This record gives sequence, structure tokens and C-alpha cells, in this order.
Amino acid sequence: MRLFPNLVRGLRFRLTVSYLLLFSALLIVIGLYFRHSLQVQTEGDVRAVLEEVWGEAKGYLRIENYRPHWIADQTDPEDAHIVERLRYVILLTDSSGNVLIDSPAYESIGIDSPEEIRRIMALKEPEVHVRSDAAGTPYIIKAGVMPDDRGQKYFFAIGRSLADSVRTVKTFTRDYFLSLLAIIPLTGLLGWVLAGRAIQPVNEVAQAAQKITGSNLSLQIPLRGSGDELDHLIGSFNRMTTRLEDSFEQIRRFSTDVSHELRTPLTAIRGQLEVALFTAQTPEQYRDAMVNALEDVEQLSSIVRALLLLSQAESGQVVLQKTMLDIGAVAEDVVDQFQIPAEEKKVRLTARIEPGVAIPADRIQIERLFSNLLSNAVKYTPAGGTVHVRVSREEDWARIEIEDTGVGIAAENLPHIFDRFYRVRNPETNLIQGLGLGLSFVAWIVKAHGGQIDVASTVGAGTRFMIRLPAEVGAGLPVNERHEVQSTG
Ligand code: ADP
Repeated sequence: MRLFPNLVRGLRFRLTVSYLLLFSALLIVIGLYFRHSLQVQTEGDVRAVLEEVWGEAKGYLRIENYRPHWIADQTDPEDAHIVERLRYVILLTDSSGNVLIDSPAYESIGIDSPEEIRRIMALKEPEVHVRSDAAGTPYIIKAGVMPDDRGQKYFFAIGRSLADSVRTVKTFTRDYFLSLLAIIPLTGLLGWVLAGRAIQPVNEVAQAAQKITGSNLSLQIPLRGSGDELDHLIGSFNRMTTRLEDSFEQIRRFSTDVSHELRTPLTAIRGQLEVALFTAQTPEQYRDAMVNALEDVEQLSSIVRALLLLSQAESGQVVLQKTMLDIGAVAEDVVDQFQIPAEEKKVRLTARIEPGVAIPADRIQIERLFSNLLSNAVKYTPAGGTVHVRVSREEDWARIEIEDTGVGIAAENLPHIFDRFYRVRNPETNLIQGLGLGLSFVAWIVKAHGGQIDVASTVGAGTRFMIRLPAEVGAGLPVNERHEVQSTG
């Protein structure tokens, strides 16, 4: 029961039906066209014969003394034949309709009424028309005027049967349309086979696609090599699964990273609480353990907060509170906050801030932008290195640069550093803690302010982030435009 509706809805069925309908309509139109041509052609032949006999009749028939007679040589068989032919469908009457000559064939189509005779005799030229006898056999008749030796006018009509022409056309029509009864089902069958063959590769692709699941996204559907639309589709599909695989991989990596990041403080909290429970004896010892545990709880909360905030930001739930903000002053504050961590790492942190660079911006987000970039710069710069911050005005833009002499980022990693949860994995960075969310925030903040961010980096030499934020209200890139990261290695 289910097979039938499936079959009818299938592409193969619909292709076959469309092909069949089109082909049948075409065959019918062609048949009708040929039928019409045949009719015109055969009727044309009869008309030509009619003209011939009309001319011959004028030569062979004379009316003298009100009596018609044939001027043929009775001994000449050819003449006798011609006259015989002329007399087949013939009518001669005087102007009142009194019959002088007629033939049984003409009688079968009906002798013209006196009114009809008068009408035709009043015409300048003879008239050609078609009439049928009682059995439906059509005759083509040419009727006009024939004068006698005294100039008196008579009504003269001569005709030929169209039976042969009609029969030819009928036979053609019957044979042609009967043959269609055989051709159309055969065509349908052929269409079904051809549609099946055309659709076969699509079915193969569908089967191959069905084998792809979340756990084997690296499976690619082989290209057929024909370079056609289907190959194009397979290519797009393969690229899609590659992108999906990347996303799956990112999510997998993220889950690992998050659990790792959460596990470290959780283990520490557990350890501290266990130690306190089993070994602490004085209130001070309990207090110390709880303070340490609280610090780790704070770290846990900050990770969770960061995740929540980023997902809110990226899903458009964070509304910017823009005011005219002196971003140089913000930069100075953040640089001050990072002096101690920088000193601890023996990294020199310097800044050159142009005064009065004010732009419409959200203070909290700009602070986060500086602090994420500075935290990275300090984190990824070994002892003895420097980090330099610059804020300046460049036409209608505020320009921010944060440059370090740190480990650098390899060219192949550069395009991904703004991706959520992306972290460069190498011996230099593996021991440095992070969730891979900092730069995702930075990218979102720049984009939300209508700005641009570029990064240039050389492995082992350092990294430079350059940000331009529009200084005019409503200037810069539209907020929903994707940020373009131009990277130079
Ligand atoms: P993380 O929490 O790992 O620092 P980010 O999103 O802030 O995450 O940065 C993504 C990755 O980009 C980092 O893991 C690091 O490898 C690289 N990166 C970011 N800033 C710097 C920098 N100043 N120098 C070298 N590498 C950097």
C-alpha cells in the first residue's frame, strides 16, 4: 500500500510522466500537422484536375440552337475518354434552371435551385465549392456561366469527387493514431528506463550520505569525475561535512577543555576540604582551608561566567551601553592593573597614549577588550620580553595597538585564533592556562562597535594586534557585519 504513493511522488515517476506527456503532445501535434498537409495536398491535386476539366469542357461542349452537343471525334478513343471524364459530374441548365445536361453523380449532390443558379450566374468569376452527397462523399464543384453561339448565357457546373482525397487522409489518420497507441506505451517504458538511469547517481549519493553519521564525518562521498551538477552537489556536500566535522571537533575540544579547566579548581577544592576535614585541628587551619577553597570556587565561577557571557554576547542578548568614552584613559587604567602581573613575569609593560581619544563605546566592553589582549600579551611573552600599548587618533578612527615580543602565532593558526575555544597547541603554549575564549570576546566587542581588527605575528618574535574603532556615532561597519581578520604571518 505504501509503495504506490511513494512511487507516484518519486522523481523517476514524475520525470517519466512529464517526458511522456510532452512526447505524446508532440506526436499528436505532428500527426495533426501532417494530416492537414495531406488534406491540402490531395485536395489541391483534385482542384488542379477540376481546372483541367473545366478548360476541356469549354473546348468540347458547344451550345447551338439552344441544344448542347459534344464536339468530339467519336472514333478517337482518347476524345471519347475525355468526354466520358467530363460527363462524370456535370450540370448544364438555362438561366431559369431547366436542365440540359446532368449526370447521376451531380444529381446525388442535388441539382442547384433556380435562385442558386441566378446567384452564381451573377458572379463575375466562376465559383468553386464543396458539396456532399447523401452518403457523405464530398465533391468539389466549379460553377459559372457558359455562353452559346448567340451569346445567350447558360449555367454550367462541373465537379470531381473528393472521395479519394478523403480516404487517403482517413487512412493516414487511422494508421498514424493507431501506431501512437503502440508508440506511447513504448515511449513511457523507455522514459522510465532513462529516468531510472538519470536518477541512479542521485540514489547512490543518497546511500553514501546515509552512511555518514556524527562519528564518521570524515567520510567523503567520492566525486564521479563528470564535472556536472551532481559532482557540484557532492562537492558542496563534502565541504559541508568537513565544516561540520570542524565544528564537532571544536565542540569536542571545548568539552575536554572545559572539563579540564573545571576539574583543576574542583580537585583543589576537594583536596583542601579533605585535608581540613582529616587534619585541621585549630580554627585557623579550618579558616585557611576555607579561604583557599573559596579562591578556587571564585575561579570556577569566573570560568562559568565567561562562558555564559560569551554565549549571551554572540546570541545578541548583550546590549551595548555606549557613552562618549576616553579610551586612552581606560587603556591607562587597565595597563596599571596589569603592571603587577607583568612584573611578576618579568615582562616590561609600557604604553603611549594620545590624550583625548574619545569615541562612543561601552566602558565595560572596552575594558574587557584591553584586559583580554593585555592578559594574552603578558601570558604569551616569556620573561625579559616587553608589551607595548598604543592608543592614537587616525582620522575618524581610534587606533589601538598591543604589541608584544612573545612566542608569536604560526601562520596556519592565525585564521582560527578568534574562533570560540580555539587554542594554539605547542610546547610553548601548552602549559599556559586558558579557555580559548578571550579573543572570541575581543572579536565580538570590535564587531559590536563597528570596528576592525588585524593581527600580525612572527613565531618567536612577537605579535601585534591592531584595532580601529569608529570615532563618530553611527560610523564604521554595520554591527551585524562579519569582522574581517587580516593576518600577516
Ligand atoms: P586563551 O584563553 O587560550 O588565551 P584566547 O582566545 O585569548 O584564548 O587566544 C586564543 C589563542 O591565541 C591562544 O591560545 C594563544 O595560542 C593565541 N594567542 C593569543 N594572543 C596571543 C599572543 N599575544 N601571543 C601569542 N599567542 C597568542
